[in-house]
Amino acid sequence: MTGRVLVVEDDHPLRSVLLRGLREEGFDPVPAADGAAALRLATSPFDAVVLDVGLPDADGRDVCQALRAAGFTAPVIFLTAHHHLTDRLAGFSAGGDDYLAKPFHLTELAARLRAALRRAGPPPPAAAGGLVLDPTRFTCTASGDPVGLTPTEFRLLAALLAAAGSLVSRRELRRAGWPEGAQVSDNTLDQYLSRLRRKLRAAGSDRTISTSRGIGHGFR
Ligand code: CA
Repeated sequence: MTGRVLVVEDDHPLRSVLLRGLREEGFDPVPAADGAAALRLATSPFDAVVLDVGLPDADGRDVCQALRAAGFTAPVIFLTAHHHLTDRLAGFSAGGDDYLAKPFHLTELAARLRAALRRAGPPPPAAAGGLVLDPTRFTCTASGDPVGLTPTEFRLLAALLAAAGSLVSRRELRRAGWPEGAQVSDNTLDQYLSRLRRKLRAAGSDRTISTSRGIGHGFR
């Protein structure tokens, strides 16, 4: 089993070795030199991520947490120079699936990637009211027809669908749709929600985004 793998490593020689080796092992690796590049690239589909913990602009575990918060479900394997148990545990609690200490053999990384991909299996698409969201490909279909969504619209809709009919607070929606620390005005959030409603209506969806003033929004 092979797949498209995001390789996040700031050490240039090591990154080159990883890219070449993974290609030889039949994977389709895509490089990122820091956390910001990884988060940018991860808005497109990946089957797995190899993520260095010591990045120049962020801790790899924080990058992983941000990916998970954005609805990214593909397996993440951390690379680290640390061997301590606490580091390992922190990696798992950040949403990582496996941990590999440097130096390592590329064949071991490839084997762990294959095992992680096998365990992950095909991603479970979220479906409701004829809508299907695929969180690894950032695609949405309504009764089989594609609905063109921006990554932010996708994340907002994914958060609403994940609540399965319960209300999602506006604060949670901001957290789901935008990176941490982003300034999102009420007006901006409303604009995104009305654009989503329009797109869902145009796609023939019989369900839409509801508003409970002062509480939040639902999908019903
Ligand atoms: Ca590093």
